[in-house]
Amino acid sequence: MTTHISNAIIMRTWEFGETDLLVSFFTSDKGRLKGVAKGGRKSRKRFANCLDLLSLVKLEYELKRGRELYFLHSGKLVHAFPGIRSDFSSLSLASYMIELTETLFPLSVTDKEMFALLKNAFLALNEGKRNGVLRILFEAKAMALGGYRINLDKCCGCGRPYAGEGRAAFKQSKGSLACLKCEQESKLSPGLSPDSVKVLRVIQSTPWDKAQTLDLNNEMIREIKPVLKLHIEYRTGQRLKTAQYLE
Ligand SMILES: [Zn+2]
Repeated sequence: MTTHISNAIIMRTWEFGETDLLVSFFTSDKGRLKGVAKGGRKSRKRFANCLDLLSLVKLEYELKRGRELYFLHSGKLVHAFPGIRSDFSSLSLASYMIELTETLFPLSVTDKEMFALLKNAFLALNEGKRNGVLRILFEAKAMALGGYRINLDKCCGCGRPYAGEGRAAFKQSKGSLACLKCEQESKLSPGLSPDSVKVLRVIQSTPWDKAQTLDLNNEMIREIKPVLKLHIEYRTGQRLKTAQYLE
C-alpha cells in the first residue's frame, strides 16, 4: 500500500460509526476522492481543524486494497478561509461552487486546473471580492474545464462567424451563440451585447489571475448571468440544490 500526500479541499463530511468521519475531498493530483478518517470526530492530534468543510489541507492517505475508499492518516490545515465562514452569502456561493464541481467531475477524475480554480475562487471569496462577479468567473471557467465551453465564435444556426458587432442570442440546446436572424432574443434565449460576448470569451480562455482583473459592469453581469444559468441547467441536467440560496 502506498501513502499519498496531496493538497486537498474538504467538500463534504458525514458521520460514520461512533467516532469516524467519511470525507469527500478534491485533491490537486488525483481528483475528487472519498475516504474514512478513523477517529476523525475525536482526534485533534491527527486531524486538528482540518476536516472542516471548505478547508484547504494537506492530507496523508492511502487506498485500501480492493476498495474505492481511501484511508486518511492525518491532515494539516493550510487555509481555513475565515472570511467565507463569517459571511452567509459567501458561504452559500462556496457551497454552490463545491456542488458544481462535484457535478462536473466524477470520482477520481484528475484535473489540476479545476483544483486551482476552486482554490483561487475560495481565496478571492475570502478576501471579499464581489460575489456576483466571482460567480460568473467560476461558472464559466468550471464549465469550460468540464468540457462545456460556450461556443462564442459563430452562429450555431447558419454558421456565420461572430464578428464582435451587434447583439447575439444564446441558444441553450446548442451551448452556443446564435445570430438574431436564426434566434430571437427571449427569456429562454437571452441576448448578449458585443462587450458581454468579449468578456465571456476572455473568462473562458484566460488563466484566473487575468480573468480576475476584468472589469465587469452591472450590465454585463445582468446579461451573462442568465446565459450561464441556462447553460449549466441544460448540460448538468439539473438545477443544483445550492443554487436556490444564491438569489
Ligand atoms: Zn445565424
